[in-house]
Amino acid sequence: MDMRIEQISRVVENQTDAALRKTGEKIINKERIFFDEGVMLFEKAGLPYVGALANYVRERLHGNKTYFNRNFHIEPTNVCVFSCAFCSYSRLYAQRDEGWELSIGQMMDMVKKYDGKPVTEVHIVGGVHPKMNLYFFVELLQKIKAHRPDLHIKGFTAVELDYMFRKAKLSVEEGMKVLREAGLDSLPGGGAEIFDADIRTQICDDKVNADGWLDIHRTAHRLDMHSNATMLYGHIENYKHRISHMERLRSLQDETGGFNTFIPLKLRNKGNDMSYVAESSVIEDMKLYAVSRLYMDNFPHIKAYWPMLGRQSAQLTLSFGVNDLDGTIDDSTKIYSMAGSEEQHPSLSTTEIVALIKQVKREPVERDTLYNEIKNYKDMDLSLMSNSPLYN
Ligand code: SF4
Repeated sequence: MDMRIEQISRVVENQTDAALRKTGEKIINKERIFFDEGVMLFEKAGLPYVGALANYVRERLHGNKTYFNRNFHIEPTNVCVFSCAFCSYSRLYAQRDEGWELSIGQMMDMVKKYDGKPVTEVHIVGGVHPKMNLYFFVELLQKIKAHRPDLHIKGFTAVELDYMFRKAKLSVEEGMKVLREAGLDSLPGGGAEIFDADIRTQICDDKVNADGWLDIHRTAHRLDMHSNATMLYGHIENYKHRISHMERLRSLQDETGGFNTFIPLKLRNKGNDMSYVAESSVIEDMKLYAVSRLYMDNFPHIKAYWPMLGRQSAQLTLSFGVNDLDGTIDDSTKIYSMAGSEEQHPSLSTTEIVALIKQVKREPVERDTLYNEIKNYKDMDLSLMSNSPLYN
């Protein structure tokens, strides 16, 4: 018997709670677990138990491989027509003097800064600006593609897209086709927050609802565009809300297979209307990642977004089901630094992200946005890397 199965079987056999043992057996046998079992894992299981199971599934799927990419972000604006309670980043249009509104030229200067550098992806998200419409972004996408056709453009949350398409009086499919034609390659996973309607009313009342979010991703998948999915946790949601959110994503993934990765996002509580909520503990964070790995059985990847979590906690997640750390970022996002993350200038060189992964005895693999492997750094010498301009 494979050593890993032997070890996890022993962990499950030694579980004294019959229901938890049964769920563990299902996971070992690659059977799907359902709503009540997901909630039970949160409520009753200890971290060592869910952690061992999640690590087993992670290694069954990916071995020691841990993915990252070389990327940068563009945040066109933080001016936003919405005012989500958890958001530390946005400014209303009336206060736009306190925020930023980048022109196409300024954003192209950011793209040109990477000329000759081996980045593979630009991630574009921002506030929902009332005057940056679909055709503004069409021009941006076209210009980026004309300048650097090989750069994968992952852009716009479903919240931004919903607003853009409605203002342009286009259906989701029509709008998505316009953006795809202009150069949009895939969608990030933001804006999902928590799908539950009651919680959504309390934390982000006026933006696209769960059905709208899912419809935008369904449409993208139908048009052969991949996307990611997120879940904002650690605020006023309970375990049932979390599992029901995952359930809806898992169902859509059954239908389309278009999601690449699931990214739990932790509430950071500085500078927003939810500062009264204590941030979740590291134990809660690790348990959430582990349960995510166990529940999202049709998502190939689980990602820890290190600018939000901090690099040490992100390293820890690699033993709790996570197999992806996002990218090098290059200090190009303010979303989590403005919310109080310890990563005030999120930037990792390739050498640094490889070192983080190697420190926890995992195998660093550079990928592109769609998880095609670009380079395996398992046997690369860190001291040689740190002296090479290629990796710094
Ligand atoms: S979370 Fe997004 S949609 Fe909500 S206020 Fe912030 S920028 Fe706007």
